[in-house]
Amino acid sequence: ANDQRESLMIVTNWAAKFFRETLWNSDDGQAIGLSYFKERGYREDIIKKFELGYSPEAWEALYERAIKEGFGEEFLQETGLIVKRDDGKCYDRFRGRVMFPIHNLTGRVLGFGGRTLKTDKKVPKYVNSPESLIYHKSDVLYGLFFAKKAITEQDNCFLVEGYADVISMHQAGVENVVASSGTSLTTGQIRLIARYTKNVTILYDGDAAGIKASLRGLDMLLEEGMNVKVLLFPDGDDPDSFAMKHGAESFKQYIAGNSKDFIFYKTDVLLKDAGNDPIKRAEVIHDVVESISLIPDDIKASVFIRECSLLLNIEERLLISELNKLKLTAA
Ligand code: ATP
Ligand code: MN
Ligand code: MN
Ligand code: MN
Repeated sequence: ANDQRESLMIVTNWAAKFFRETLWNSDDGQAIGLSYFKERGYREDIIKKFELGYSPEAWEALYERAIKEGFGEEFLQETGLIVKRDDGKCYDRFRGRVMFPIHNLTGRVLGFGGRTLKTDKKVPKYVNSPESLIYHKSDVLYGLFFAKKAITEQDNCFLVEGYADVISMHQAGVENVVASSGTSLTTGQIRLIARYTKNVTILYDGDAAGIKASLRGLDMLLEEGMNVKVLLFPDGDDPDSFAMKHGAESFKQYIAGNSKDFIFYKTDVLLKDAGNDPIKRAEVIHDVVESISLIPDDIKASVFIRECSLLLNIEERLLISELNKLKLTAA
């Protein structure tokens, strides 16, 4: 099985080189792919560092080249680089897309995310490699290979939604950042981060989907014993658009000044929805205590209960009895 995985990785790493060479050396790659990255504001050194590429428009460009170079069809299929139709004909999965290779912890390519350049809403914005023997998306974090050193040094990891966010943050000089691209955050991904730090700051998109995902993500992180902060971007912005709009220095100031402990973040978000409705405000208190009840360390949990009592002006002993109830039902 190790031989098989090694063979597949040879194929994916060859494909990464193919996409990279297409980006830098072909007419379409330069005129379409490279121009796209440059219009987004990516510097050449960053494009190279992340080994970004471009997949040709033609239906069988990679397929034909791979066969010519002696790669077996079954390997191309297992890695998801080609798709086999019912009639036996094969075509490239990624066509006319800018390519983001997804690396493992030693920097080898396991799979890809490909972004369309079309604005047509019917075309999926991102196409990702399917699950394979080497690519299990729930156990991979995009950018971790480039981030692990900085995560250890900073003793903190920024968690973002997308490829572009990771890359723009590097360009802004913030390297301790990973994305759970293509999937909602999983326990496996959190355990990967936990090898390097216990401190996570969630930087999701400033839209309804981002807020929803942040609330789910923070609970999962708390459950794994992580210390969680959250930062919300202005509506419509994500880390990439914010960094490009305001520049590296303002970006760094913004994240330093606006990260909130999960409890303040969650309370703020929920209270905004509840307004002055007393029943809804009571539900907010329940929801916040529910998050606290996920924290495995009792001492930490009790610190947050105190915080919550001050913040929401509720007697601490009420919160503690609620917490104990929740813990009993969870056990
Ligand atoms: P960009 O800045 O290039 O428009 P983004 O990263 O801001 O992209 P979002 O729409 O915020 O894109 O989505 C966040 C992440 O979710 C993407 O980076 C990608 O990993 C994943 N994603 C988005 N759309 C799809 C899709 N149609 N299929 C699979 N994954 C997707
Ligand atoms: Mn989004
Ligand atoms: Mn986004
Ligand atoms: Mn974006």
